[in-house]
Amino acid sequence: MTGIVLGIDLGGSKLALALGTPEGRVLARSRRPTEPSGDPKQDIARIVESARALLAEAGTSAEQLDAVGISVPGPADVLSGRVLDAANLPGWRDVPIAAELRAALGCPVRMENDANAAVLAEWRYGAAAGCRNAVYLTMSTGVGGGIVVDGRLYRGQAGHAGELGHVPVEWGGERCACGQQGCLEAYVGGRSLTARLRECAPPSSLVAELAGGRERATPEHLLAAAREGDAFAMEEMARFNHYLARGIVMLAFSLAPEVVVLGTIVSAAGEALCLGPVREQVQQRLWPAIARSLRIEPSALGDELPYRAALCAALEGEPVEDA
Ligand SMILES: [Zn+2]
Repeated sequence: MTGIVLGIDLGGSKLALALGTPEGRVLARSRRPTEPSGDPKQDIARIVESARALLAEAGTSAEQLDAVGISVPGPADVLSGRVLDAANLPGWRDVPIAAELRAALGCPVRMENDANAAVLAEWRYGAAAGCRNAVYLTMSTGVGGGIVVDGRLYRGQAGHAGELGHVPVEWGGERCACGQQGCLEAYVGGRSLTARLRECAPPSSLVAELAGGRERATPEHLLAAAREGDAFAMEEMARFNHYLARGIVMLAFSLAPEVVVLGTIVSAAGEALCLGPVREQVQQRLWPAIARSLRIEPSALGDELPYRAALCAALEGEPVEDA
C-alpha cells in the first residue's frame, strides 16, 4: 500500500488525470482532448494509454496504486461501474468501464458521477471546505448537481440523488434535453442558453455582433454583451438569474445547506451580472432562519476542479463490485 491513487475525469471534451495522495497532494497530472471515437472499447484503450503514460512519467506503475477512481458523466450506475448513457460520448450506452479499467490496470476501481465528484472536490478543497451541508451545481453544458448532507455525500436511491438540473422551475415550461419540460437546465444550462441566443438574439444586438451573427452566439458572447450594457443581453441575464434563484430557493428549503457552489457559467459571469442579483432574489424568498446561514459562491477550484474531482472519485468514490 503506497497510499497513491490515480484519478481519471472523463468529460465529453476533456480527459483529465491526476496522481495524488489521501492528504490531497497532487503528484502529477495530465490533460488531453477526449476525442471520442464512437467506439467505447477504443476510447477506454486510449484512457488506459494516458494512465500508463502519466504513471511512467511519475516513475511509478499501476501495481503501485491503492486505487483508480473514475469520474464519469451521468447517468451512471456507480455500484456496478457502468456508464449508462453519456450524451457527449457517442456510442457510450451501458459501458462497464470500471471492469475494463480493473482488467487493464489491475487495481481496485472506484467510481463517481461527475457532479458528485465535483461536490466532493469543492467540499474537500474549495468553496465548501469546512461545511457540513453543501450543494454544487455544475452550470456548464447541462446542469448537474451534487449534495453533501451532514458531512457526507448524499447518493440517494441507486446513486441518483442530486439531479438538480431537472428540478422543474416552470411547470410545463421550456423543453429540456432530458425529455421533460420546465427543468432548471432548460433555462440556465449552456446548451439551452446557446440555443435560445441563436433563436432569439435580435440581429442588431451586441450578442449577435460579437458572435459574428446570432447563429454563432454562445453564453460567452452573452456575458461580454451584458458587461457592455446591451439591452437584450441584460434582459437575458435577468431571466437567467430569475430561474437560477428559483432553483436555489427550492434546494435551500429542502436541504438548508451552508453553501451553494455554482460552476462554470456563473463563475464566468461574476458578481455584478449574476451572483449579486441571485443572492438578493434568494434572500428575499427564503425564511430568514435559512437565508442567514446560506452562502452562494462561485467554484473556488477553477481549472483545478477536474483533477481534484478525479482524485476524490479515487479516494471517496463508490467501490465497484468485482472491479
Ligand atoms: Zn430536464
